Amino acid sequence: MASERDGTAIVPGSYDPVTLGHLDIISRTAEVFEHVIVGVVNASVRKSNYVFSVEERVEFIESEVAALGNVEVKPFSMLLVHFARENGAKAVVKGLRAISDFEYEFEMNQLNRKMAPDVESMYLMAAPEYSFLSSSGVKEIATFGGDLTGLVPAPVASRLQEALKR
Ligand code: ADP
Repeated sequence: MASERDGTAIVPGSYDPVTLGHLDIISRTAEVFEHVIVGVVNASVRKSNYVFSVEERVEFIESEVAALGNVEVKPFSMLLVHFARENGAKAVVKGLRAISDFEYEFEMNQLNRKMAPDVESMYLMAAPEYSFLSSSGVKEIATFGGDLTGLVPAPVASRLQEALKR
C-alpha cells in the first residue's frame, strides 16, 4: 500500500479538543496520501470561544499522530483553500458524521470549488462508533464530570476535565 500513496492532503478543523473521531479520519487519510497536514484553525467565524489555545490543540494532535510518520500538524489563519495551495496539497479531506454535517459541508464545498477549482474536497464517512462524537459534546460531558473514556485520548481527557472544572 505504501508505494501507492501519493500527494499531500489537508485535514482541517478546530480540534477543540481532538477526539477519537478526528484521529480516525486523520489515520485513514494517512493510509491513502503520502503526506498529511492536519490544519488547526486559529480563528474561526463559526466558533470563537475555544477552551484550548491553538498551541495546545496542535500539541494534543501531535502527540497522537507521531507514530504514523507521515502526518504533520500546523495552525492556520487564512482561507482553507489558500492554506491548501500554500502547502502544495491536492486535496482537502473532511469527515462526515450524521446528516447534520452534510448541509454545511455542501455549502462550503460550493464556495471552495468556486475559489479554487484546483483543490479537490474529499469526504470520509465517520466510523459508526464515532458518528455521534463531537468536540462540543465532549466539552459538555466534561463540564458535568462525565466519563470521557473512548471519546478522546487519555491525556486530553484529563486536561479537559481540569480546564472545565468549576
Ligand atoms: P467538531 O465539529 O467536533 O467541533 P471540527 O470543527 O474540529 O470538529 O471538525 C473538523 C472535521 O472533522 C470536520 O470535517 C468534521 O466533520 C470532522 N469530524 C468531527 N468529528 C468527527 C467524528 N466523530 N467522526 C468523523 N469526522 C469528524
